[in-house]
Amino acid sequence: MPRPIQANLDLSALESNLRVARRTTSARIMSVVKADGYGHGLMRAAEALAATDGYALLDIQDAVRLREAGYRQTILLLEGCFSAEQLPIIAEYRLTCVIHSPWQIAMLDGYPGNGSLEVWLKVNSGMNRLGFAPQQVAQTMDQLRRHRAVRDITLMTHFANADEPRGIAEPLALFNDLAASYRVARSLANSATLLRYPEAHGDWVRPGIMLYGASPFAPDMGEQFSAQQLGLKPVMTLGSRIIATQELRAGGEVGYGALFRAEHNMRIGIVACGYADGYPRHALSGTPILVDGQRTRTLGRVSMDMLCVDLGALPQAGVGSRVVLWGDGMPIEEVARAAGTVSYELMCARTERVRIVT
Ligand SMILES: *Cc1c(COP(=O)(O)O)cnc(C)c1O
Repeated sequence: MPRPIQANLDLSALESNLRVARRTTSARIMSVVKADGYGHGLMRAAEALAATDGYALLDIQDAVRLREAGYRQTILLLEGCFSAEQLPIIAEYRLTCVIHSPWQIAMLDGYPGNGSLEVWLKVNSGMNRLGFAPQQVAQTMDQLRRHRAVRDITLMTHFANADEPRGIAEPLALFNDLAASYRVARSLANSATLLRYPEAHGDWVRPGIMLYGASPFAPDMGEQFSAQQLGLKPVMTLGSRIIATQELRAGGEVGYGALFRAEHNMRIGIVACGYADGYPRHALSGTPILVDGQRTRTLGRVSMDMLCVDLGALPQAGVGSRVVLWGDGMPIEEVARAAGTVSYELMCARTERVRIVT
């Protein structure tokens, strides 16, 4: 028998989460499949999301793979092109290219192709990561509209606080102001914006995390923003089994650094899952976890290949008991919260040695 850890993927949940997005908006849907489909596998995710209107990712090789596999939808390169050699490939494979910086326009200027490129001009509406400053937009739009290589322009932006109490009012007003002068398609919404701000759907929405079944909102935003309330179903369930148990006496300590110390006699289970599988080492004692379908907590420090769980309230559990680290029945957002991170990072962190089972 192999080591019992595995990631079960429920691909029908991807389809179902895409339908949630469809029901939420009349805009076209650009499914974000960057980072290997948020750790679910690019081609696998793309296939389950085949009803989408477009795919967004970063790597041109991945974009070409999608095109060669027969997908005819829009394929958007979220960071655009990185070198002039990519431009003929972008044209040949009919890829769509974000333009976020002046150096990318300079690269376009050297490209001999005529009217072959679709570009999305990125506006920096306050996140200050990628995009043209508001005062540069008019001039840049002019340049692109007159550019012989450019066939079509969409205006896009990305919000920094759509998932936070602060929201998007300011950057949305700024973007709408800028976009008002142009008759071009618009794209503004990640998952949080899509779910929370119908007024910011524009022509193309760009959901990522919600398609994989996690809420983009932190647990403290309230129950109405949980994945379950939003109708989202987890796609990935990270599961393993208990491979040993220990009886602790009062005062007994657990794991490296002895971060947990038993106050009374108790039984613990050792789970075949550690940070080398992608489980966060920063998860504190008390991180929720399912054993035989019941919620319990982790104890002590997560090690490379193992972690410990409290079996105090689970007398039936023992070697061979099923463990769910996150996914079905164990919201990934709660695990992320306990580890001081977000579900996105946990999904992407799964390592090669964790088998995927579909
Ligand atoms: C990753 C990304 C998204 C998707 O964000 P989610 O929060 O996963 O929905 C949308 N737009 C851009 C520009 C992105 O980089």
